[in-house]
Amino acid sequence: MVEPMELPTRIGILPFRNKVLLPGAIIRIQCTSPSSVKLVEQELWQREEKGLIGILPVRDAAEAMAVGSVVTQGDKISKNQASESNKVDGKSQHEPLYWHTRGVAARALHLSRGVEKPSGRVTYIVVLEGLSRFNVQELNTRGTYTTARISPIDMTKSEMEQIEQDADYIALSRQFKLTAMELITVLEQKQKTGGRTKVLLETVPVHKLADIFVASFEISFEEQLSMLDSVDLKVRLSKATELVDRHLQSIRVAEKITQKVEGQLSKSQKEYLLRQQMRAIKEELGDNDDEDDDVAALERKMQDAGMPPNIWKHAQRELRRLKKMQPQQPGYNSSRVYLELLADLPWQTTSEEVELDLKAAKERLDSDHYGLVKVKQRIIEYLAVRKLKPDARSPVLCFVGPPGVGKTSLASSIAAALGRKFIRISLGGVKDEADIRGHRRTYIGSMPGRLIDGLKKVAVCNPVMLLDEIDKTGSDVRGDPASALLEVLDPEQNKTFNDHYLNVPFDLSKVIFVATANRAQPIPPPLLDRMEVIELPGYTSEEKLRIAMRHLIPRVLNQHGLNSDFLQFPEAMVKLVIEQYTREAGVRNLERKLAALARAAAVAVAEQEHNGLPLNHPISSPLLESRISATGGGGGGEVEMEVIPMGVNNHEISNVFRIMSPLIVDEEMLEKVLGPPKYDDNEAAERVVTPGVSVGLVWTVFGGEVQFVEATATPGKGDLHLTGQLGDVIKESAQIALTWVRARASELNLAVVEESNLLEGRDVHIHFPAGAVPKDGPSAGVTLVTSLVSLFSRRRVRSDTAMTGEMTLRGLVLPVGGIKDKVLAAHRYGLKRVILPERNLKDLAEVPSAVLASLEILPAKRMEDVLEQAFEGGCPLKQHSKL
Ligand code: ADP
Repeated sequence: MVEPMELPTRIGILPFRNKVLLPGAIIRIQCTSPSSVKLVEQELWQREEKGLIGILPVRDAAEAMAVGSVVTQGDKISKNQASESNKVDGKSQHEPLYWHTRGVAARALHLSRGVEKPSGRVTYIVVLEGLSRFNVQELNTRGTYTTARISPIDMTKSEMEQIEQDADYIALSRQFKLTAMELITVLEQKQKTGGRTKVLLETVPVHKLADIFVASFEISFEEQLSMLDSVDLKVRLSKATELVDRHLQSIRVAEKITQKVEGQLSKSQKEYLLRQQMRAIKEELGDNDDEDDDVAALERKMQDAGMPPNIWKHAQRELRRLKKMQPQQPGYNSSRVYLELLADLPWQTTSEEVELDLKAAKERLDSDHYGLVKVKQRIIEYLAVRKLKPDARSPVLCFVGPPGVGKTSLASSIAAALGRKFIRISLGGVKDEADIRGHRRTYIGSMPGRLIDGLKKVAVCNPVMLLDEIDKTGSDVRGDPASALLEVLDPEQNKTFNDHYLNVPFDLSKVIFVATANRAQPIPPPLLDRMEVIELPGYTSEEKLRIAMRHLIPRVLNQHGLNSDFLQFPEAMVKLVIEQYTREAGVRNLERKLAALARAAAVAVAEQEHNGLPLNHPISSPLLESRISATGGGGGGEVEMEVIPMGVNNHEISNVFRIMSPLIVDEEMLEKVLGPPKYDDNEAAERVVTPGVSVGLVWTVFGGEVQFVEATATPGKGDLHLTGQLGDVIKESAQIALTWVRARASELNLAVVEESNLLEGRDVHIHFPAGAVPKDGPSAGVTLVTSLVSLFSRRRVRSDTAMTGEMTLRGLVLPVGGIKDKVLAAHRYGLKRVILPERNLKDLAEVPSAVLASLEILPAKRMEDVLEQAFEGGCPLKQHSKL
């Protein structure tokens, strides 16, 4: 910044291709071409005093053409050139260069010399500072490097002083400084640097500042040239102001864009920040509904759950893990669900046990259940023991009986009597141990077992838990649920019941378990050993009628929003429903049929109410029509109605309707709603019309059943065919029966007695109808023989007589199970006589006396006794031979 600068008249020229060095600018260049190396060497390196070189912009021919420069030949500057560019034959002839006519003298701030290996070529790295502009008078390209005769452009000191008084100049400088200051402020803000650049503004003359500023911008070559050519200070200042301003604007725009982009990029961060703030606000307001608050709530719930200390520790460990996780992280949800379960389980919560009032319990059992005297008595005993010694190891009661006999409702009555909550766990079809014990948490979609799940739902640790259909659990490859149940029912082990999902022990010892089963036989013996079996036989028709009248009908009416003012079930009709529409040991179907009738009535009643009162109008419901005509309300089904004044509300109308016409179930209604009767007492008589058919009694999960056995003979080779989904035992019974009959053929005076072989030339086919239902068991022995004897003797079996009993090969009749149910079934079917193994007579004690009174029980010791009773007129055998 020497002012004014003394320039030599001739100067070595370093061409700058498409580039301008402005005064005040500093640039680092590497010189490798021979001419520039020579120039640096001679003009800078070897000079004692600091030398100067001229930096002259040059441009490529193509560029020059594009900007419309005139190309001239020769090394002299053509005087008539419009352009300030000259063509020079540079070092490379093929590449014409156009020299600019103005350049900048520069001095070297730093010089370093290097030797390239292995060529040994010398290179220089030069840091140059632009000093002042000059005009090229003449260019000499003949030497090793270009030189030029130059003349200075910069003003003298006095010229400077003069222009500094110029108002325009002053205004321009101020304007420039303001803009520059603004730019510096923006840059300093951006880079967070202190005000060093601002010092420049104060110390350096403004026209130099203009160059310095512009030199630091990345502007086009043309703009750089025009800045170089701005010799007039005012022009230079205004150009520089414009460029600085433009730069300022571009920085601002860039800043805006960056802000926008940054805004998008850090959206999630921003969200995070906002959430933090929101949480703080919510905390302030006492609102907690976001994730973290949920976790806090979970923690509070866990604290209140009353977990035992070791489990609490385990839960806390899991909670800490959860807190470290992000909600989106895999495992977060499962961990959370697990903790929720821990928090929800009733570790200590109990339903308060009321002081057990045995009398009230008895009353309750009586009011809920008709009959079942012995069962109720046993329950009362059970409760009495509990009352005296609450922590006694009372046995697990297991109600065994066909569906719909009240097993579930008895269990819930026990719960009610004890004032405990009741939960039913269905075990029907459970084959997987995990259903009882849960899956380990490592499984996807793992869940706790049914017991723990049930406890969570019931929310107390001392409920009455009904293990429903415990006989229907099976075992397969997935483990044995029965063994898990053993643990559950064992008072020694169930203090620390281990559910795989829960993975911490849960105390089940406060739970009162009650089980139900249709049959005791499929229950694995160790499990059965832990339980006290209480058998509930099916009901007789009479009992069903009582149950229906006292319990089912009021309940059904209530469930349908009706009462006896709307619908009445006469006993005779209920009896019809029992006998002709249901044939079951329990009362479940009966309840369903009654419900169907109630539904139909409810529709009729609702229609009545909806249509308003049918004033003096026949009731249009087809259901009611029949009733009305039957009750003789007048010709054509018309009925007299009270006239109701307008404006009477529906309630009153229905009241009037109730008073006027309670609907009474009749046979017609039964047929309309339930369809034609399904069963009748003549079934046996109808089916036993031909020889070869006998009536057996079998035992199924639905209680006792009547089972017909049909035998027929066809021409063949003496084969025995059996159909009706039979098991191995029953097939063997058939073989035994056939052998026995063949052995006794002559004694029995069978039709084919002349023939040596009963089966000569014919096959025997025995079928057990209800062919789709699997059947097995030994108790069909006597029935099979009877059927075969009937077939071969061509005599019909008595249609009023049913039988059951196993038979040995020698004709002894052995006792069988399920006598009570079988006798009840015979009674239900309207049969009059039942042949039983003699040794089963003791089982009749369990059969209600009303049933026994209506049946003739015929004991049999040997097969001949059975045949004697089964045929009209006695055993065919006796006519000829004596045993
Ligand atoms: P289970 O569990 O034996 O299959 P439920 O207990 O479900 O049978 O009984 C079926 C329906 O029959 C229930 O509504 C029940 O109240 C009713 N019920 C069964 N037996 C009686 C009874 N002795 N007295 C009154 N209602 C009974």
